[in-house]
Amino acid sequence: MPDACSHHDQHLHHGLKTADLGPALQAAEARCTAVQERLTAPRRRVLELLLKADAPLKAYDLIAAFGTDGGSAKPPTVYRALEFLERLGFAHRIESLNAYVPCRLEGGHAAAFLICDCCGEAEEFAPDFAAQLSAAEAAGYTVRQVTLEARGLCAACRAS
Ligand SMILES: [Zn+2]
Ligand SMILES: [Zn+2]
Ligand SMILES: [Zn+2]
Repeated sequence: MPDACSHHDQHLHHGLKTADLGPALQAAEARCTAVQERLTAPRRRVLELLLKADAPLKAYDLIAAFGTDGGSAKPPTVYRALEFLERLGFAHRIESLNAYVPCRLEGGHAAAFLICDCCGEAEEFAPDFAAQLSAAEAAGYTVRQVTLEARGLCAACRAS
């Protein structure tokens, strides 16, 4: 996370705390069951780490933090879990940061992020890509996924 600013200790983040984590993971289990997929232990653990995090996590952060006893994971375990979470719309990869965030909205094939260059927060908002998607379809494309990444300063960092 960048920490060049002078108000570093005032950065506010919204990783889920223990009380909210249980319901979020239960909701994820239910969504998996609905599409006949399983939220296996490694998938669940990676999702939990993403939900708890206050900023986008890189794969190696996830590998290092994986073990509840402080041990790390085998990299393929984490990469496979991430692939699953992305496919089901539980997580997004932010290309410009090479890092992952949990989906804060209902999963879909389009996601948009406002990324703060100061505190590293990546806020997800619902993009309106309808016109672009129908233009792509008209040109014969099947769009698998669209991610918009907007860089700048969040309201809290601007105000500080
Ligand atoms: Zn999302
Ligand atoms: Zn910020
Ligand atoms: Zn800041």
